[in-house]
Amino acid sequence: MKEPRFRVMVTDEVDPEGIALLRGHPAIRVDEVPTLPPAELLERIGEYDALVGRSATRITGELLERGERLRVVGRAGVGVDNIDLERATALGVAVINAPGGNTVSVAELFFGVLLALVRHLPEAHATMQSGRWDRSRLGGIELRGRTLLVVGLGRIGGEVARRARAFGMNLLAYDPYVSAARFEELGVERVGRLQDGLERADVLTLHVPLTTETRGMIGAGELARLSPRAYVLNLARGGIVDEGALADALRAGRLAGAALDVFSKEPLAGDHPLRSVPNLFLTPHLGASTTDAQRSVAVEACAAVRDALVTGDLSAALNATGVGGAGWGELRPLVDLTERLGRLARSLLPGGLSGVELRYSGPREEAPRPLLLAALQGALRDVVDRRAINLVNVHHVATERGIETAWTHVAGRGEVGEEVDLRMEGGDRSIRVVGALLGEAHGRIVRIGAFRVDVAPRGTMVVLRNRDVPGVIGRVGTLLGEAGVNIAEYHQARLQAGGEALAAISVDSRLPPELLERFSSLPEVLDVRQVEMD
Ligand code: NAD
Repeated sequence: MKEPRFRVMVTDEVDPEGIALLRGHPAIRVDEVPTLPPAELLERIGEYDALVGRSATRITGELLERGERLRVVGRAGVGVDNIDLERATALGVAVINAPGGNTVSVAELFFGVLLALVRHLPEAHATMQSGRWDRSRLGGIELRGRTLLVVGLGRIGGEVARRARAFGMNLLAYDPYVSAARFEELGVERVGRLQDGLERADVLTLHVPLTTETRGMIGAGELARLSPRAYVLNLARGGIVDEGALADALRAGRLAGAALDVFSKEPLAGDHPLRSVPNLFLTPHLGASTTDAQRSVAVEACAAVRDALVTGDLSAALNATGVGGAGWGELRPLVDLTERLGRLARSLLPGGLSGVELRYSGPREEAPRPLLLAALQGALRDVVDRRAINLVNVHHVATERGIETAWTHVAGRGEVGEEVDLRMEGGDRSIRVVGALLGEAHGRIVRIGAFRVDVAPRGTMVVLRNRDVPGVIGRVGTLLGEAGVNIAEYHQARLQAGGEALAAISVDSRLPPELLERFSSLPEVLDVRQVEMD
């Protein structure tokens, strides 16, 4: 009998239903092993074309190097923290995960936790076990007719919304990045600003990824807008709700209750103060801990690994680019510059994104497509979980969101050198930003909208549009200085004297919201944005 073409190692007790998909293919031979000590894994990895595991096995750079035949690493789960993604990409090893398999389990846990909170179930059980009958003290409320605010209407947020309708709840959601059609399909009212939703919510639940935008998204100010009868649930990622502010609000009786399944630091320390906050219900990151979720992530990951090996279909991979080997190394500075142009353009054009167009001027024929992907990655990085988006799958994610894309290649050089000209459209607006590569590796931003600028894309960049009147630079400099923010570069540009001007300011630290507000309130300032470049 012919020896199967591909050998796959499956470890970490991946659910058998997933493994059966691999075994079922005649070109694949599967070896199932328990979680191996790193040295033994290093010893054996050279024989395999693919490795499928969960979080227990660490896929280090060294392991990837030793896996000479290795083409695919599959993770039966969402997080890929245990995989050296950078090294895998450099070595051309596709990394595949299973982002959708947990969705229903998390959505169902949400209702378990919410009912536990509003009906005081943990306390009821504890009082019964301690011999009491506290019936009159444990009165609760119904979910019917209560208003649920879902922040993040993605996979999990959507399933939560569907189920909440069955409970007869009123549904609001805040998610500026999904289409009106999705709100309509789910029967959810859209709130344009988070704060408007907070004021109306009886229950606030977070289902966003952890990004620079969502870290600390629910802090003291947001909690203060909620009714004292409201409940807050975070089953997404630790740090989206400020843990200290939540504890303070609960201790002061400014909230009815809250629940956390996820924490800034996991596992939560045994003596952590959160453990004794009143009306705070805690679970140890149980969202995906069901046999069903483990089965669905195994099936999702194994099917994708099988297809990657057998047909070369890499659409589920987090990290393929179409450009590999030495070419990738040469393209890297341009890719980095373009990713930052994507972030910059996106921050200047908030709200729904409908189109991204990239023009590359330079000698590399293979460059435009990976550069377009890099621009999309920059544009979408704070919208989708950053670990889950990569150059391979970003185009798919963009298409799913209805974003149209195009690229063109101009064979000559741009005005300054190799140049990337990026245009983004959304609503009835568009923005153009241009970056150039000086020498082999120095990326500069050379145009923002109609303005010529010249700044390095690093640190935090503040883009300020103002009326060209005397004294603006001084006032901006003073405000930054007073706030202890160091300016690395300050580039001021204008179209004509007395017209509109633009300043691109590279600073060493992120500006606090109060400072941004002070800028906005200066009479000559039209608009101010900041974007993280590192
Ligand atoms: P998803 O990518 O399908 O949805 C996330 C949604 O958040 C998207 O619709 C996006 O547009 C929206 N969003 C992004 N930034 C936003 C912002 N600043 N404001 C408002 N909306 C924003 O992700 P998902 O699969 O639904 O997962 C949601 C969260 O649940 C993630 O944080 C994930 O890590 C977490 N999760 C937790 C568990 C657990 O065990 N508790 C298990 C799985 C997933």
